[in-house]
Amino acid sequence: METALTIIFGLIIGSFLNVVIHRLPLGESVAFPPSHCPRCNAAIPFYFNIPLLSYVFLMGRCRACRGRISPQYPLVEGFCAFGFWLAVRHYGLTPQAAASAVFICLLIALAAIDSKHMILPDELTYSGAAFFFIYSFFNPEVGQLAALLGGLGGALFFAGLYYFYLKVRKIEGLGFGDIKMALFMGLFLGPRRLAVAVFLASLSGLLVGVFMIVFRKKNLRLALPFGPFLSLGSFVSLFWGDAVLDWIGSLWLLT
Ligand SMILES: [Zn+2]
Repeated sequence: METALTIIFGLIIGSFLNVVIHRLPLGESVAFPPSHCPRCNAAIPFYFNIPLLSYVFLMGRCRACRGRISPQYPLVEGFCAFGFWLAVRHYGLTPQAAASAVFICLLIALAAIDSKHMILPDELTYSGAAFFFIYSFFNPEVGQLAALLGGLGGALFFAGLYYFYLKVRKIEGLGFGDIKMALFMGLFLGPRRLAVAVFLASLSGLLVGVFMIVFRKKNLRLALPFGPFLSLGSFVSLFWGDAVLDWIGSLWLLT
């Protein structure tokens, strides 16, 4: 029962995230007007606005213009529901699970917007930093000092990388948004799990980058947005970061 409600709640929030992802970069209001097809503008009646199910029923097409609906919509809803389920499974119905759900929503929205528009909107990164700064006073997993250390350390680390690329390699290897994103990631994850998140993000970014160069003959200068990888790394590290660190520690002891 708890599981079913969590998943349904995740799907509903995911469908709101889709609206944010679509409208925030265009400067449109996320509250009004109600959902409409991005191609033909036809309003989507509430009974066709059921997350995931309506996508399956309509076979990924708009009811009015038969235009294809981006698979982003069911993916975001599915990921959100999965994340909420993991949060409740991990923390039970606690404030920590709710804070994790907020964190997951930010990660999903930032990953989707960054891969489409190559930006990480301030509205999301600054709200995240403010929210998780306040939450750091109540976080039972990460102490206040550790949260500040994680947030400021992460932001400084990415600022350092940013200027290194700019000065030494004369390219904009990272965006300013990545610095702001690392700030709220560190505030919630703390320094240990932030390090795991950044490591996983770099590793997965590198793998995808190499894959693109080898199989699609793309130039690495055609910069990949880093936000989706930071999101993925943070998502994994939120739940399994400590396990990864323990595992690395046990390898260290064996040698
Ligand atoms: Zn349409």
